[in-house]
Amino acid sequence: MKKISNIKFILIVAILAALILSACQYDLEDAINDNLEQKGDLIVHFIDVGQGDSIFIQLPNGETSLIDGGTRASGENIVKYLKEQNVEKIDYLIATHPHEDHIGGLPKVVKNFEIGKIYMPDATANTNIFQELLKEIKNKDKKVSIAKGGDIILNDSGVKYEILAPNGEKYGETNDYSVVTKLTYKGNSFLFTGDAEKTSENEMMDKGYNLKSDVLKIGHHGGSTSTSNEFLLKVSPKYGVISLGKDNTYGHPHKETIARLNEQNVTVLRTDELGTIVMNSDGKNINVNKEIKGENTESETQNIKKYYIGNINTKVYHSPDCNYLPKEENQIILKSKKEAEDKGFRPHDKCIK
Ligand SMILES: [Zn+2]
Ligand SMILES: [Zn+2]
Repeated sequence: MKKISNIKFILIVAILAALILSACQYDLEDAINDNLEQKGDLIVHFIDVGQGDSIFIQLPNGETSLIDGGTRASGENIVKYLKEQNVEKIDYLIATHPHEDHIGGLPKVVKNFEIGKIYMPDATANTNIFQELLKEIKNKDKKVSIAKGGDIILNDSGVKYEILAPNGEKYGETNDYSVVTKLTYKGNSFLFTGDAEKTSENEMMDKGYNLKSDVLKIGHHGGSTSTSNEFLLKVSPKYGVISLGKDNTYGHPHKETIARLNEQNVTVLRTDELGTIVMNSDGKNINVNKEIKGENTESETQNIKKYYIGNINTKVYHSPDCNYLPKEENQIILKSKKEAEDKGFRPHDKCIK
């Protein structure tokens, strides 16, 4: 009997020791994982460049990416904006396609910052701006990687940055060469489509890529030949961001595109209405314009430029993260509480303090 209980005792001690050890090991693994885990948020800046695109991304691991550089005229402003964010290096520079409203400001960017990898589609343009960009890249002794659907830019500690287009060799429309990227940070994802149109959208769907994203950078400034119903259904975004200039000569965004977005209850955010749009993701939630450095237009908040969404029928205005937002077709963007109240809107008591 005594012998057995001795064995029992030893067994219990051994089991306990094993449990404690494994618990310790678990803690240690957790600690290591925590260390490897990204510390910061993912921050995506849709820089207001007028009629064009320029998206600056701060990755949680401290690296940066710039997708496009607006028009030639916006180059200086982009450089200034990046310097304000204390940027020294662009780790991943993507020129979606060689149209001037996407690469125009990039020669200045390449000149002013340290550059890591550069991605472009296999498309050229017979334009001065394209030649200037290639010259600046050469001056920096950099090589261009030709982007293809399926390539991975980064896959590390909860962040996946992948290329989903182009998937073909030759296109009739330069816009369809657009490098499309999807950026996923834990539970949040962003799809950046450049000026990709239907042909490229169809190819991405045919490839069977997982297109589902919280935020869709609407293709081609809201032009009607992008953002097909089928594509939009697959992406199924909460937010659709349109980068465009006020009163542009193309009539962007086209009303057909806005109708499709309304139909699928996508919250539309436009740079011609809001200026630069900044989204923060902690991997679970996305905050819009939580904090923008720079001029403060509202006295009640510090360094926070918020916007509001009004319901044109009820004349009530909401915070953009309110659970009781009106349908898109009844929404109006209001830049401040003052603007809301000047226009006769009253605050929604659940979301406006
Ligand atoms: Zn284009
Ligand atoms: Zn464009």
